[in-house]
Amino acid sequence: MQAIKDKHLVKTHSYINGQWHKSHSTFAVTNPATSKIITTVDNAGIVEANLAVRSAKSALQSWSAMSAHQRATILRNWFNLMVEHQDDLARILTLEQGKPLAEAKGEIAYGASFVEWFAEEGKRVYGDTIAAPSADKRIVVLKQAIGVVAAITPWNFPNAMIARKAAAALAAGCTFVVRPSEQTPLSALAMAELAHRAGIPEGVFNVVVGEDAKAIGEVLTQHPDVAKFTFTGSTAVGKTLIGQCASTVKKVSMELGGNAPFIVFDDADIDAAVDGAIASKYRNAGQTCVCSNRIFVDESVLAQFTEKFSQAVAKLKLGNGLEQTTDVGPMISAQAVSKVEQLVKSSVDEGATVILGGKVEPVGSSFYQPTILANVSPEMPIATNEIFGPVAPIIAFRGEAEVIAMANNTPYGLAAYFYARDIGRIWRVAEALEYGMVGINEGIISNAAAPFGGMKQSGNGREGSKYGLDDYLEVKYLCMGGLAK
Ligand code: ADP
Repeated sequence: MQAIKDKHLVKTHSYINGQWHKSHSTFAVTNPATSKIITTVDNAGIVEANLAVRSAKSALQSWSAMSAHQRATILRNWFNLMVEHQDDLARILTLEQGKPLAEAKGEIAYGASFVEWFAEEGKRVYGDTIAAPSADKRIVVLKQAIGVVAAITPWNFPNAMIARKAAAALAAGCTFVVRPSEQTPLSALAMAELAHRAGIPEGVFNVVVGEDAKAIGEVLTQHPDVAKFTFTGSTAVGKTLIGQCASTVKKVSMELGGNAPFIVFDDADIDAAVDGAIASKYRNAGQTCVCSNRIFVDESVLAQFTEKFSQAVAKLKLGNGLEQTTDVGPMISAQAVSKVEQLVKSSVDEGATVILGGKVEPVGSSFYQPTILANVSPEMPIATNEIFGPVAPIIAFRGEAEVIAMANNTPYGLAAYFYARDIGRIWRVAEALEYGMVGINEGIISNAAAPFGGMKQSGNGREGSKYGLDDYLEVKYLCMGGLAK
């Protein structure tokens, strides 16, 4: 904490209606690398959630009536401040979340890039005119801000998961209330401080931090003044929240769990595939929804890939994210480690082999070694569950048809990756994979210009890109009649 240059970025109260809001009790925020308490934060609940929605409702009229250009100028201020304070924001993020500082800086740049993108994209909301079926009518289509948006976000990307939603919502003319994960409230509050400095008017961007996710979630999903609800998190919680939104028929967008296949074909560039697998598997200690979850390797290149991959993974250094040499940080908690341990154990019981790692690191209960499992079959727990940890299960396959069937045999459909060189194969496989995003000879796919989102039980809606604004806009049809003389 001492190394943070701008101490005013460390906030410990919810940000509602442009003000820092005190609550009656507090909760602790812990550094997962050391298990030490970083600070305590005021514990907001139902009252504060309702207050935040009311503030967002009051601010809606004037914010949505502003020109897109005016909103863009303010959003750009916010972007500039995030870039200016990148180092401090990254340090706060690493302290509460654990990822290596270089990755945290990357996340701040990535989060800010959505603010920049939507500041620009907000100017490009186009309506339509449509030929009417009768001569005395005209059909005009407007796109308008949907209203108050409520969001719940996870701990794995404490900055970017908020930025992706808030930037699109604000650019479209909506006002916004977010409840970040109780494990990572400080990054969200630092964003609020910068939103304040950027001149985002009171009530437009609100952050409610509190431990009782369920109670706050019930307000955000059921309040009649919330027009749209957006969530990033697990499929199980997402389903509950969609159900809660039904009573007021809210528009919802959901970015839920994944079970990404990473396929290495026999014509792949094996070195490139190894690099891609490392990036997509071990980033954020394997705790991203687009992390490779099942690594399928054609049996003719299995030995070659496994050897090179093992050599590369063996070089990854596990440690505190604040240390420069760290490649892989701690997991978010000891419970998260236990879940991964259990998945590995039950898969080994069913015949999988640990060829690297496979243990909790002696330095601390939140550290799990970068691990590779061989002899995995698609039915094992490690392949059917979202691992959310630094474990790479390798599954052998024979031929395109078999691997496509195995890759699609899951209720999830977020990200998929494959490495191949044959152009015919690339098109066939890309079209056959039932996934919202497909990395082809590429292990890192996410950026502000591209539509991020899933199929099947991985969710609906898209974040980023020109499509990302649609989730925050209503289409309104004006029927202009009585034009005949
Ligand atoms: P993860 O495994 O990434 O923690 P979760 O779906 O459990 O995924 O959590 C994502 C976010 O949803 C977190 O901010 C968490 O606090 C919140 N959350 C969890 N359960 C509920 C719930 N019943 N209602 C509202 N929010 C919830």
